[in-house]
Amino acid sequence: MKKISILGSTGSIGTQALEVAQMHPDRFRVVALTARQSRERLFEQVRQFRPEMAGFSEPIPTEEIPEDLRFCRWLMGPEALHAAAAEVEADQVLVSIVGIAGLRSVMDAIGAGRQVLLANKEALVTGGHLVMKAAEQAGRPILPVDSEHSAIFQCLQAAGPNRPVRLWLTASGGPFRTWKKEDMDRATREQALKHPNWSMGAKITVDSASMFNKALEIMEARWLFDMPPERIRVVIHPQSVLHSAVEFEDGAVLGQMGVPDMRVPIALSMAWPERIANGSRPLNPFGMNLTFEEGDPVKFPALRLAGECLRAGGAACTVLNGANEVAVAAFLENRIPFGGISRVVEAVLEKTAGLRADSLGDIFEADGLARARAWEMIGKGTNGWFCP
Ligand code: NAD
Ligand code: MG
Repeated sequence: MKKISILGSTGSIGTQALEVAQMHPDRFRVVALTARQSRERLFEQVRQFRPEMAGFSEPIPTEEIPEDLRFCRWLMGPEALHAAAAEVEADQVLVSIVGIAGLRSVMDAIGAGRQVLLANKEALVTGGHLVMKAAEQAGRPILPVDSEHSAIFQCLQAAGPNRPVRLWLTASGGPFRTWKKEDMDRATREQALKHPNWSMGAKITVDSASMFNKALEIMEARWLFDMPPERIRVVIHPQSVLHSAVEFEDGAVLGQMGVPDMRVPIALSMAWPERIANGSRPLNPFGMNLTFEEGDPVKFPALRLAGECLRAGGAACTVLNGANEVAVAAFLENRIPFGGISRVVEAVLEKTAGLRADSLGDIFEADGLARARAWEMIGKGTNGWFCP
């Protein structure tokens, strides 16, 4: 029986992890659940899974917790995340919150000797060097939940002592793959939120449309698999059946295929090294037409910026991430057009070069600065400024 703590349990990844836990009551016991604010959903989950601890990272008055849920220890604010990551006795901690907030939780969980199941790619984007070092010292590899990284992780199991020469990171291309750049730059919130293959939270769905999600995943892969950016190839594969692949010296390419269903990598991380049923459909290969294209770095500046930031080092990836989080929030509030997202990120990167990332403090400082600069630019800019 594995005890699992879930940070961000009301989100897309969190709820799917609970579905898997519910399918295997003999394997998993849920010991902690946290959410940012979706009250009714968390209350319902606590009622159903009866964890020892639960909490909201945005505090609510304790009087508002229903009577029948007071059996569980309720915590609020940063304390809730800290307890779920490091205090509650758990074998594994699924970090499925959004944004740089995940970095502290991942470090807390590693520090407490927990097995980290990592959905929150931002932790590696911003603090990859610190996270990987801490995980190595703790002797527990990070188990990736992101589907591409889970695929690569699985392929590497077959590599023995051989190192891959290249990683193939697949990308669906998102809803704007076939659009002209001018049309994409003016796309609406509704258009950007329509992902062709995956149903996910709003932030990552917009990131998939702009390909900033792939930029973050290049950074994630760089740290998880210790691979320089020039050896990570983005392959646009609109059907999302090949989830990623690794290429070896002898020309062999090993890939992992399956239906696009996040319960597969989530369940694999939870049950690792075992594979368990998770409710996904079997893959039907007949009539399938799999295609592969190159990504266009002019249309999607994110693809170029990923390599540039990794080569620049220091806090460049943190700055990209922070500016992008702000730009996506502004886009979702209809304050900037879709094309404004990469403009804000590039402008903030230009203004914020050369920052260090030697400690968590440095990283949070760089993040704060990038966010402040992004909001400042958005405040000053008109839609005309962003989309001439
Ligand atoms: P989501 O928005 O659906 O859910 C996020 C969850 O975390 C919610 O429970 C929310 O209440 C909580 N949360 C959000 N921000 C928080 C904060 N600052 N502090 C504390 N709690 C917070 O998001 P999601 O789509 O489930 O994605 C979660 C993470 O997993 C992201 O890092 C994302 O990039 C990654 N990821 C998601 C998918 C997917 O299919 N959804 C795939 C790969 C990776
Ligand atoms: Mg992914």
